Amino acid sequence: MPSQITNYQCPACTGPLHFVGSSGRLECEYCGSSYSVQEIEALYADKEEAAEAAGVQAQSAEAAQAAEEYSFQQGAEGLKVYSCPSCGAELFCDETTAATSCPYCGNPTVVPSQFHGQRKPDYVLPFKLDKKAAVAALKNFYKGKKLLPRAFTDNNHIEEIRGVYVPFWLFDGRVTADIRYAATRVRSFTSGKYRITETNHFDVRRAGTLDFRRIPADGSKKMPDPMMDSIEPFDYSELKPFSTAYLPGFLADIYDVSAEEASERAVRRACSTSITEVNATAAGTYASCTPVSQQVDMPRFQAHYALLPVWMLATRWNDKTYLFAMNGQTGKLIGDLPVSMGRWWAWFFGIAGPLAAVLAAILFLM
Ligand SMILES: [Zn+2]
Ligand SMILES: [Zn+2]
Repeated sequence: MPSQITNYQCPACTGPLHFVGSSGRLECEYCGSSYSVQEIEALYADKEEAAEAAGVQAQSAEAAQAAEEYSFQQGAEGLKVYSCPSCGAELFCDETTAATSCPYCGNPTVVPSQFHGQRKPDYVLPFKLDKKAAVAALKNFYKGKKLLPRAFTDNNHIEEIRGVYVPFWLFDGRVTADIRYAATRVRSFTSGKYRITETNHFDVRRAGTLDFRRIPADGSKKMPDPMMDSIEPFDYSELKPFSTAYLPGFLADIYDVSAEEASERAVRRACSTSITEVNATAAGTYASCTPVSQQVDMPRFQAHYALLPVWMLATRWNDKTYLFAMNGQTGKLIGDLPVSMGRWWAWFFGIAGPLAAVLAAILFLM
């Protein structure tokens, strides 16, 4: 038997509910009703508990076996199979999927059992920018890039942009820094007919602590780290205690990079920021200031688990995948793009053609 999933349905008409960022509410496309997250949470509390419990049983029992059988049939590892409560279709999801939509009936589905126990996020940062805003930002990003292959700019493809709740670890910690520098001060003066330059050497030491809060590092193997770093910062004052009621209508993944693994990146970032800060306090008062030894470390930290909103579009072109990502809260975006040589030539000749014609005409007249 497949594991249980939940479809959030409109209490008025049973139509599918979507979380809408601009209103911060769950809205029904069919009858226009809207509900607060708290109202829907209250309504679904019992159902989710049952689903979570079923999920736990399923891990050891038949569902796990069924999933294994399916993954065997699919020839791929780590697939899970769920049955859509609306249309009964079987959904194949990868191991980390926690929210998706049914490809057959389109209804948003959430897998509450994915968030059981240790795997329950502490926070969720709800989407603020909707799909319209994401599509507009993407089109604007493409604007003026005449050399872009059509695979990117095709309207049907652009419509495939998806809102994803990406699992992130947020680290709090204290960096201790102890850095020694060889520094100099230079003085220059004239004495009689001599010009004298006097250099004083100093053994400088700076030590202290720096507190960091919520250094983010994504907890998803499939998300490229530099890309996730580039769409920062997120405004964490808008974090909400986690609830699955923020997920319908979006994709959501659970982490597959542990807090321990992700902490390496966070610690490195915190330490490098600390070094820059400490260097700045020493450098200003000396003519030169060169670090000779440093001990910088974040010995302890605390990790919080949060789902953060990202709009994403992957484009396959010439056997390569190009990603576009946009911060679903602030709109900050990043994308990598190729240049199609085919279109480059078309563009080049578009300009070069008339110019050559004019030149030919002048030559002819002479
Ligand atoms: Zn409705
Ligand atoms: Zn369905």
